[in-house]
Amino acid sequence: MAMEMIKGLATTLKELGQKPTTVSYPEQKRELPERFRGRHVLHRYEGGLERCVGCYLCAGACPADAIYIEAEENTDEHCVSPGERYARVFDVNLLRCIFCGYCEQACPTGAITLERIYELSSMRPDDLVYHKEQLLEPVNSATRGSIEVWTPEPPTETATPIPARQGFFDGLEASAAAVGQGNLPAEQEILLEDAYDMPTPADATPESEG
Ligand code: SF4
Ligand code: SF4
Repeated sequence: MAMEMIKGLATTLKELGQKPTTVSYPEQKRELPERFRGRHVLHRYEGGLERCVGCYLCAGACPADAIYIEAEENTDEHCVSPGERYARVFDVNLLRCIFCGYCEQACPTGAITLERIYELSSMRPDDLVYHKEQLLEPVNSATRGSIEVWTPEPPTETATPIPARQGFFDGLEASAAAVGQGNLPAEQEILLEDAYDMPTPADATPESEG
């Protein structure tokens, strides 16, 4: 018994001169790894429109079923995003989230990123379901978030409310992203060709006249 006590005391004495491995949180904070993934942020374009077009791709990619979205149509009177729809409800359940970043990768418009926000504790589980109002950047403070370091600058058209509503895909890179089509040249050409080659009522000749 005495031997064990001496051994334990010796271990304590040996560690006394060592540099501590803990930090005095919250006064002192650790430096985070470069690609640390914390709480989600929803982004806006420079013009104030929301990047999210309510396409559900992030929710579909999420392996933990942590994202809940309810999309709604944009109207001329109430235009929230450059796409046809916007996310009226956007919840992320951080109790389910495993911070894998799949939602960020799946998003065609760079609307959602995982940022270096990690102070997320609460005594109430409900507090850890973050709603759109908490996740969305304020107006006039549009950022790209952490993905800025590995993604190119957004196309210049996104600085203003887009796309012009012409009833068909107009070929702009920003419009492609807004309608969730990505930047696929082949798809773009086909869609443009279809749009311009569409017969008008004046072109149509009734069969009986032929
Ligand atoms: S980080 Fe992963 S688990 Fe969390 S919401 Fe995104 S896809 Fe789901
Ligand atoms: S993938 Fe992006 S644009 Fe689509 S619903 Fe999710 S955050 Fe919104």
